[in-house]
Amino acid sequence: MTLLKECVLATASKALFLDRDGVINVEKEYLYKIEEVAFVTGIFELCRHYQQQGYLIIIVTNQSGIARGMYTEEDFAQLSAWMQEAFAKEGITISAIYNCPHHPDFTGDCACRKPKPKMLLDAARQYGLDMAHSLLIGDSERDIEAAVAAGVGETVLLSSRVKSSKATRIVTELSCLY
Ligand SMILES: [Mg+2]
Ligand SMILES: [Zn+2]
Repeated sequence: MTLLKECVLATASKALFLDRDGVINVEKEYLYKIEEVAFVTGIFELCRHYQQQGYLIIIVTNQSGIARGMYTEEDFAQLSAWMQEAFAKEGITISAIYNCPHHPDFTGDCACRKPKPKMLLDAARQYGLDMAHSLLIGDSERDIEAAVAAGVGETVLLSSRVKSSKATRIVTELSCLY
């Protein structure tokens, strides 16, 4: 009994990593107002599908609007809390939201902005993730590059325009994935 429990606890979790803008909400430049959020079709179904299979859901997002002075860390935090609540109402737990508030032109180089893998690697350490069995969905090649650099096994580019990518799969709609 005790041994069994220890075995379960020792198993690393896998994650569904999601970019935010263009994957969770419809892309809108420098989004920070709750009333301007429109969820991407299928995002709740997708998350429920992976959550049921034991994936932790973790958001990794570049937020250069903070570096640019378009909105503040506090604005971002408020939108994030609202978004987590909206998912909770759909029965979905967003375990963590990692953000890079920098931009090289405004705040200099940083370690976290995608395509760098730091946000993903921080999550891997904090949640003890099995990256090879994790999945990332992004709408930009830099999301894919960050995931590849972090050792994420499966990468999906959500795009109706792009024809070639380092991603393991390109889909035009989230419904292709659940
Ligand atoms: Mg995006
Ligand atoms: Zn950064």
